Amino acid sequence: MIVLGIECTAHTFGVGIVNNKGEILADQRIQYRPKEGGIRPREAAQMMSEKGADVIASALKEAGVPITDIDAIAFSIGPGLGPCLRTGAVAARYLARKYEKPLVGVNHCIAHIEIGKLLCRLQDPLVVYLSGANTQIIALAKGRYRVFGETLDIGLGNLLDSWGRAMGIPFPAGPKIEELAKKGKKFIELPYTVKGSDLTFSGLYTAAVKAAERYPLEDVAYSLQEVAFTMTAEVAERALAHTEKKEVLLVGGVAANKRLQEIMGAMAEEHGASLHVVPLKYAADNGVMIAWTGLLMYRAGLTTALNETVNPRFRTDQVDVRWVPI
Ligand code: AMP
Ligand code: MG
Repeated sequence: MIVLGIECTAHTFGVGIVNNKGEILADQRIQYRPKEGGIRPREAAQMMSEKGADVIASALKEAGVPITDIDAIAFSIGPGLGPCLRTGAVAARYLARKYEKPLVGVNHCIAHIEIGKLLCRLQDPLVVYLSGANTQIIALAKGRYRVFGETLDIGLGNLLDSWGRAMGIPFPAGPKIEELAKKGKKFIELPYTVKGSDLTFSGLYTAAVKAAERYPLEDVAYSLQEVAFTMTAEVAERALAHTEKKEVLLVGGVAANKRLQEIMGAMAEEHGASLHVVPLKYAADNGVMIAWTGLLMYRAGLTTALNETVNPRFRTDQVDVRWVPI
């Protein structure tokens, strides 16, 4: 079985092709980069609709597979930015119709989880999903990926990118902030806001912008990371203690951060669990994760009607995870 997957939720138009052994046959991506500021959804979608067909063609060429040999077409059906989601969906529907292939709409967050499980060879981890827009602590329970804690406002990556933008650091600011933080010496008190099992980052953002007027940038970057990462580790720890999972899996772009890995690793160890990080290349949005999740779903008999619309607010816990045995 071979599945082609299209990722198109925000800044990346990615096309992946995988087979049922979990082998990656193709991985092509292009990135939208705003000239300044954050993502402009319509501008991103415009770029994707202009270049998307070439990315699909390159992926098929890389895999050396004619499109007639593809068993199903998967695409990100949500969550994400409406204009981008619709662009990916149009491409997927076109291929499905023209070549008479089944269509599989994939939840983008679940795709981050499934590619992490595949590449780290895990069965049932507690997932700490930290991307630009999303921050969730997730574990499989009773046939669904349940959310044990999440941000109530902005995602952790967004916190870093927004603070970076205010400091004149271009998007994505995460890697640069990690470098700056290594040079930080003094810890500056910043608001630490955990509400039950949930997180809020906007107060921390405002305080960190203000702090930069008085303190060296390195010290603020260091303190910002320490506060945001320990807040996240606290809610992850609560979920780990409750679910008693033996593996912790970090996914999403922020998972690349070494200091975050250190904090999460120490937390996992205290509970006798091991820490795993999705390989860097697949931490970011990509078509392979959509193809692989689409394949799992298709194999379990799940397909999507041609007229089903995208869902920008599609939640992780709305999907029956029928492809994992209970
Ligand atoms: P995603 O939304 O999953 O594609 O991930 C993108 C996010 O990951 C952006 O907010 C980046 O700033 C963030 N990111 C990437 N590398 C790092 C890093 N080394 N440390 C912290 N955040 C990072
Ligand atoms: Mg993502």
